[in-house]
Amino acid sequence: MSNVQVAVVTGSNKGIGLAIVRALCKQFQGDVYLTSRDPGRGQAAVAQLQQEGLHPLFHQLDIDDLQSIRALRDFLKEKYGGINVLVNNAGIAFKVHDTTPFAVQAEVTLKTNFFATRNVCTELLPLMKPYGRVVNVSSMVSSSALRGCSQELQQKFRSDSITEDELVQLMTKFVEDTKRGVHDKEGWPNTAYGVSKIGVTVLSRIQARLLNEQRKGDHILLNACCPGWVRTDMAGPKATKSPDEGAETPVYLALLPSSADAPHGQFVSDKTVKPW
Ligand code: NAP
Repeated sequence: MSNVQVAVVTGSNKGIGLAIVRALCKQFQGDVYLTSRDPGRGQAAVAQLQQEGLHPLFHQLDIDDLQSIRALRDFLKEKYGGINVLVNNAGIAFKVHDTTPFAVQAEVTLKTNFFATRNVCTELLPLMKPYGRVVNVSSMVSSSALRGCSQELQQKFRSDSITEDELVQLMTKFVEDTKRGVHDKEGWPNTAYGVSKIGVTVLSRIQARLLNEQRKGDHILLNACCPGWVRTDMAGPKATKSPDEGAETPVYLALLPSSADAPHGQFVSDKTVKPW
């Protein structure tokens, strides 16, 4: 088993994920895994970074596929005995003018952004080594979507005692409510992406709490963040930040020094803790 430290970034064949890998290759003392659901796109991204003189490693990962997650888990466990840095970056968004029915958008968006990200956490968080760093890439849209929820839902999502099961039930209910055409009446905002990112931010708060309860002595720090509005295929060319600029806050959280005991369980934007 290797003593080398290891960092893993999901959905890193392009966009912010690729920029996070680029920055980690320069700043992280250890192996950095660029992962992609499509090996061809992943290897092309590795080749691009190699042209820049960087040396990421590659592993396939489709977060929608539990077998793929478990294959990566087993590989990391065997080769490194755990993980030092995990960045959950993979995500999707329908374009604003997409005419796909809202209920379908809700199901598809929640499937990847919330349920699949949660599956990655379920499989990989137990592998986190002491002083490990976990970054869940959420969005400021999670905050605006939260404000668009009914008071009752807002209270639940801000609760310091909400459980992972309760969160899963709420995310499932959102998808079902959209199918029945009652999501409005049930207090949900009109954004599937926003609700999926509420899920990511609240999941991060819950996971941080569980780490406090179960692994306090291990000094693991886990946070959700917003990269900003970033010029990628997702956000388009008008966005204000370059991918490298978008990577700054996730990389800051991924590389918090071992002496740090905060932030933890926070929602961070521009390297600053934001109120939830
Ligand atoms: P992007 O350019 O569309 O890249 C998304 C990445 O996620 C791609 O590598 C994509 O792979 C991957 N991905 C999607 N589904 C996947 C799956 N099932 N398994 C593995 N990988 C998967 O988007 P981006 O702007 O870089 O977004 C990265 C993260 O930042 C997302 O979580 C997004 O919600 C968040 N974010 C972005 C902005 C922004 O302004 N861009 C703002 C706030 C938050 P493929 O190439 O195979 O599709």
